[in-house]
Amino acid sequence: MKAAVFYADKGLVTEDVPMPEPGPDQVLVQVANTGFCGSDHSIIESRDVPDGTILGHEVSGTVVETGKDVEGVQEGLRVIVRPTFCGKCRDCLMGKPYFCQVNRRLIGMQDLPGAFAEYIIVFPQMLIPVPGGVDSRNAALVEAFAASLHGIKCAGKKEGAILVMGAGPIGLALVRLLKLEGFGPITVSEPVEQKRELALLFGADTVVDPFTENLGLHVFKGTDGIGFETVFECSGVVDNVQAGIDFSARGGTVCIVSVMFKPITITPIAMTFKETLLTASYSNTHEENIQVLDWMAEGKLNARPLITDLISLDELPRIYADRIHTGKAVKVMLKIGEEF
Ligand SMILES: [Zn+2]
Ligand SMILES: [Zn+2]
Repeated sequence: MKAAVFYADKGLVTEDVPMPEPGPDQVLVQVANTGFCGSDHSIIESRDVPDGTILGHEVSGTVVETGKDVEGVQEGLRVIVRPTFCGKCRDCLMGKPYFCQVNRRLIGMQDLPGAFAEYIIVFPQMLIPVPGGVDSRNAALVEAFAASLHGIKCAGKKEGAILVMGAGPIGLALVRLLKLEGFGPITVSEPVEQKRELALLFGADTVVDPFTENLGLHVFKGTDGIGFETVFECSGVVDNVQAGIDFSARGGTVCIVSVMFKPITITPIAMTFKETLLTASYSNTHEENIQVLDWMAEGKLNARPLITDLISLDELPRIYADRIHTGKAVKVMLKIGEEF
C-alpha cells in the first residue's frame, strides 16, 4: 500500500510499504481522509521519531477486516479513531482517560503506524462510529473540534467577553463551538487575513490584526475597560500568555490550548492583582468526539470550511514544504481512499 513515511534526512517520502495485517484482536481500516495536525508538524520538525515512522492521527475510514477474536465491530462500519484507555486507573476514574498510561495504544505517535497511509491497524476500543449524515472529511476534522470543546470545558467559565488568540484550526474550531453554545461576545486576534475572515465566518464578533492594531486599546474600548472574562491562547506564540493575562478581566481565566514547548516569562504580580486563573487544556475524550459528531449529524456544525488544501498522499511532501511548514495552509486534508 501507499504511505507517506518519515525519514530524518529527507522528511516525508511517499512510497510503497507492506500491507498491514490485523492480529486476532485487531481491525483493519481503509482510510478515507486524514487531516494534517499541528502536532504532526511539531514531530517532523523535532526529528524525534525513528526513520520509517508513519504519522497521521486525524482519520476517518471504513472497517474492511476484523480479527477472529473481535466482537461487536462489523465490516463496513464508518469510524474515526482515538487512543485506548483502561477505564480503571486513577486518571480514568477521575474522568480524564487521555492521561491513562495503562497499555496505552494510539496511531501515528510512535506506537501503531499512522493514517498517512491507505490502511491502518487499530484496536476495537479505539473506534468511534460515524453517524449517518456525517461525511468523511467532517469526520476527519472531529478531533480538532473535540480538542476545542475540551478547552472550553477546561476554562470552565460560561459568561462574558472572550478573546481567542490565534485562528489556526484549533482557534477557529473554538470560535465555532463557543458560538454554537451561545457564549460570547468573541474577539479573535490573528495576523493572517484569510484566517480572520474564516473566524468571522465561524462566528467571531470582532477580529483584530495584532500586528497593525493596538489590541490593548481595543480591549479597553471593547469591554468598557474590564478586560476579557476568558482568554484562549491558540497561537503558540509564547509572549501571548502574558498578553492574555494583561487582557483578562479581574477574576478572569487564561487557558493555554496551543502546544508550546518553549519556556515563557510571566509577571506574577499581574496575576496577583487580578486573581487570574491560568490553566491549560490537553487532548480530549471519546465523549467529546461523540458530541462533535452528534452536532455534525444534526446539521449544527460543518467543519469543512477549515480545509484550505485537499491533497493526495503523493502531494504531501511538496505541500508540507510549500504550505504547511510555511504556515500558509489552515487545514491540509488528505484524500486517500474511498470517501463517504
Ligand atoms: Zn491532532
Ligand atoms: Zn486508565
